[in-house]
Amino acid sequence: MSRYLIIILFILAFIPNTTFSVISHAASDDADFTRQRNLMVERDIAGRGITDNRVLKAMKKVKRHLFVPPSVRRASYSDHPLPIGEGQTISQPYIVALMTEELKLSGGERVLEIGTGSAYQAAILAEIVADVRTIEIRKRLAEAAERRLNDLGYKNAKVKYGDGYYGWEEEGPFDAIMVTAAANHIPPPLIKQLKEGGRLIIPVGSTTYYQTLTLVTKVKGNLEVKHISGVVFVPMVGRMLESK
Ligand code: SAH
Repeated sequence: MSRYLIIILFILAFIPNTTFSVISHAASDDADFTRQRNLMVERDIAGRGITDNRVLKAMKKVKRHLFVPPSVRRASYSDHPLPIGEGQTISQPYIVALMTEELKLSGGERVLEIGTGSAYQAAILAEIVADVRTIEIRKRLAEAAERRLNDLGYKNAKVKYGDGYYGWEEEGPFDAIMVTAAANHIPPPLIKQLKEGGRLIIPVGSTTYYQTLTLVTKVKGNLEVKHISGVVFVPMVGRMLESK
């Protein structure tokens, strides 16, 4: 009898300790990630010339480590692309910030993203603007992204599984469009779904190794084109791979 009592007391004494240690470990991990994230924003984002406060605030807030697989989580706040499964990558944080800043968002916009991937870029946009629509051509990534955005409480972001080449006509027109996969030309449906005065940013290039980040502004029906910088993105697939 007394032996059982001792065993029960032993178990009771240890369960809370274990639980407590798991919780405190998670909390200290989170604090460490927060410290690393702030450092990343100061060093790699603001430190490299991004000045838009909305962008800096969103990059400080969104926990990139929740968007990458556990195997690469430790590297979440180094300024590099990381694998997200299915041969795809989450972009380097600086490029996410640069592309977002170039859209010159002020808060009330409706934005379309092509290439949801992990949904990190979509979350950054959802922190800044009123509505985000994002399209992903790989079903498993689209489903995981939708779950992630829901779990994180982004009610203003909607994911569609499909080919982003055609945009999302029923949800348009859009104040801004961002394409996060490499294209060899700008899909005409996206230009059509861009509002007058709207901005579209897209990596354009004919090789899989190098593209030019290109900003297009729709002015009185014409397109003003500006080259921003050299970038490397995974290719846009689907309709993009057929001839123009
Ligand atoms: N913005 C993402 C990273 C983009 S990686 C993030 O924040 O994580 C590029 C993504 O574009 C990949 O997930 C790829 O599957 C997707 N993609 C490629 N071609 C596409 C197309 N035609 N339509 C929609 N998504 C596409």
